[in-house]
Amino acid sequence: MPRYYCDYCDAYLTHDSPVVGKQHNSGYKHKANVKSYFTQFEETMQQRQLEAQIRARMVGGLGCVLAVHA
Ligand SMILES: [Zn+2]
Repeated sequence: MPRYYCDYCDAYLTHDSPVVGKQHNSGYKHKANVKSYFTQFEETMQQRQLEAQIRARMVGGLGCVLAVHA
């Protein structure tokens, strides 16, 4: 019988059953981990978008970069 693995908590639930899974998913620790997981994901996405914008400006010309910082 496979154990239930929670990606967000990075942990195995030792007593696997649908009830334990539900209890885990409704637990405050799990919810906090899910929240921080998506917060981290959003920050990564924002960082990538920012880098893409900076790169696009640099391709567009140095004048644009200077204008941004002016
Ligand atoms: Zn969890």
